[in-house]
Amino acid sequence: MRIAVLKERAAGETRVALTPETAKKFAALGAEVAVEEGAGSEASIPDSAYEEAGAAVVPAEAAVKDADIVMGVQAPDPALLTGTKPGAWVAATFDPFGNRERVEAYANAGLEALSMEFMPRITRAQSMDVLSSQSNLAGYKAVIAAADTYGRAFPMMMTAAGTVQAAKVFIMGVGVAGLQAIATAKRLGAQVSATDVRSATKEQIQSLGAKPIFVESVEGIEGEGSGGYATEMSEDYRRAQAELVSGHIAKQDIVITTALIPGKAAPRLISDPQIASMKPGSVIYDLAVAQGGNVEGSRPDETVERHGVKIIGFSNTAGRLAADASALFARNLYNFLSAFWDKEMGKPVLDEEIGNAVRLTHNGKVVNERLMPQQ
Ligand code: NAD
Repeated sequence: MRIAVLKERAAGETRVALTPETAKKFAALGAEVAVEEGAGSEASIPDSAYEEAGAAVVPAEAAVKDADIVMGVQAPDPALLTGTKPGAWVAATFDPFGNRERVEAYANAGLEALSMEFMPRITRAQSMDVLSSQSNLAGYKAVIAAADTYGRAFPMMMTAAGTVQAAKVFIMGVGVAGLQAIATAKRLGAQVSATDVRSATKEQIQSLGAKPIFVESVEGIEGEGSGGYATEMSEDYRRAQAELVSGHIAKQDIVITTALIPGKAAPRLISDPQIASMKPGSVIYDLAVAQGGNVEGSRPDETVERHGVKIIGFSNTAGRLAADASALFARNLYNFLSAFWDKEMGKPVLDEEIGNAVRLTHNGKVVNERLMPQQ
């Protein structure tokens, strides 16, 4: 059983899917591990650390030669994987809804694509879920970046020269990233409020000491919603939400938006007139920028200034904490593959529930239900 990891090739990707810690653990399961030279350099992991952990550090072609499993943060171009065993597994993020061509290319190459974004939201898969681990770090980093860009302090400060007011921070979308953003802004001493469409988040917001801001006139999503995910909201809801947000946002200094809907463009939560209503010097961080953005005018990997408000939009926020993001991503992959390790066969054998959820391609075909045309 041979596991290979390549250096990530996507622009701006700093993370790596293997760390010395997980290399050692895979070796303990009996796997041979090969990693491309320089794969960890942007996550501060030198080649020597992989070597010390027992992995072979070699050029790309040698790394993937005869591999049974390739792991990646973002799925590599299948053209790089021609030397693997036929039907080799590739465990990585595929952006299956956004990059259908890559899924087809994997099917055509006879590779078995395992999409880490499609990990089901069930208790036993929590430790395998890269969306959660990366969103957690992204929520933290968004607040830190916004605080750095903001020309004022976050906590209230009483000084001999007078009082500095606490910053008002508003978090829109209280999933994994939003909860971490609330906690981080609170730790920095801000006055925090937050909103979501799922009613279950109200209590979570309160338990972190923040103020929930909710549409009450039109029904939102009961409890957690299906699988913890939100759906597109009705026209009535969106109108009520826009009205509520307009009143609140004009008084905020920092807004962090995190709202996503799987398989759809991110919902638009902040319009240009709402941006114009904010005080000059305010900061918005759009964590959904890569999925189309929650904020009108936000652009991937740019900080745009509109009406004196800075709108930050990094497409890979977790990647700005490359070392931690890699450590958690690599552990998610290890937790996934090791949970299914068949000792006798010396390789992982997926069960139906998780296997069917994450498998995109098999025997030259796209097989995932979520990618089939809707009836
Ligand atoms: P997500 O990234 O899909 O979306 C972020 C948040 O935006 C969600 O809370 C969503 O409800 C919200 N949102 C969507 N449209 C909105 C709108 N128009 N206005 C305001 N907010 C909007 O969500 P996520 O971070 O992946 O987590 C969602 C839930 O799933 C959480 O409760 C989380 O705890 C749960 N979860 C469970 C598992 C597991 O059990 N294995 C794993 C991951 C997440």
